Amino acid sequence: AKTSGKGRVCRYEATLHTRILERLQLHAALDQAITNGEFRLVFQPVVALDTGRTCGFEALVRWLHPSRGTVPPLDFIGIAEESGLIVQLGEWVLRSAVAAAAQWPGPTYVAVNVSPRQFRAPGFVGLVQRALADAGLAADRLVLEITESLLLGDRDQDRIRSELDALHRSGVRIAIDDFGTGYSSLSYLHQMPVDLVKLDKSFVDTITTSPSQYDLVKGIIGLAHTLRLAVVAEGIETEDDRKLLIGAACEFGQGFLFARPMAAADALTWVTAAGS
Ligand code: C2E
Ligand code: CA
Ligand code: CA
Ligand code: CA
Repeated sequence: AKTSGKGRVCRYEATLHTRILERLQLHAALDQAITNGEFRLVFQPVVALDTGRTCGFEALVRWLHPSRGTVPPLDFIGIAEESGLIVQLGEWVLRSAVAAAAQWPGPTYVAVNVSPRQFRAPGFVGLVQRALADAGLAADRLVLEITESLLLGDRDQDRIRSELDALHRSGVRIAIDDFGTGYSSLSYLHQMPVDLVKLDKSFVDTITTSPSQYDLVKGIIGLAHTLRLAVVAEGIETEDDRKLLIGAACEFGQGFLFARPMAAADALTWVTAAGS
């Protein structure tokens, strides 16, 4: 038992060591990738569930790594967040997203994911306003997707609240991402300048197979409506998903049933073809 215990410790240290090395390498590579311009945005349509009309697009970042190929955001956003590189990366994402949206016919909006560390960085509100002005995009065509943890964290609450208010007053809309997965203490929401919630894919995944999950989703959507929030359901993959969500009074949706995330040029074609 003693030797196996020791062995475990060694193996544990080895994997920990490898993991730390991997993270350091990834951190260095990320830093370099920002300088080298290895990031791209893809855009996924958000549609009205009843008519299928495209209302906007969510911007999603991709890292085109020279040797690893396309790295999905879940493999690097966490490291970017921990290391602080998310501030630079997030500024690039924001500026690129609003520049793309400036080419789309109004009122098509772009939704940009903002991580808590990026929002907390000094000057975020000013950055958003400059990005909109530089791109010539009206504020009401930008949605910022934030997480419950930003609203419910234990620091800076007054400052965050007043910055959200300032953004909201300027016309920018605020969405709560991954709605339902976090604290789900809904009482805070009615006093926040929030316009939409994005119902997490994990809920949508289960509605066709579990009546009790479907009831839960109906309840969450009903609650959001009581708080005068519109609902965007994520991860809609089947026609059954769409029908059930319409039955639950969900207005908007996003998912592979409608379209996968696409390159900027394709998004432009998509939205101009839809309008004609
Ligand atoms: P999210 O904000 O919840 O984004 C939705 C994710 O679901 C995207 O994954 C999208 O490609 C995927 N998705 C959409 N429809 C479907 C579907 O029907 N089926 C399935 N299986 N998946 C679907 P993606 O692009 O890999 O992004 C993962 C997460 O990475 C995002 O989750 C978001 O939290 C984060 N992320 C992506 N881009 C950015 C960014 O620019 N900044 C920040 N801070 N985070 C980002
Ligand atoms: Ca999102
Ligand atoms: Ca999600
Ligand atoms: Ca499903």
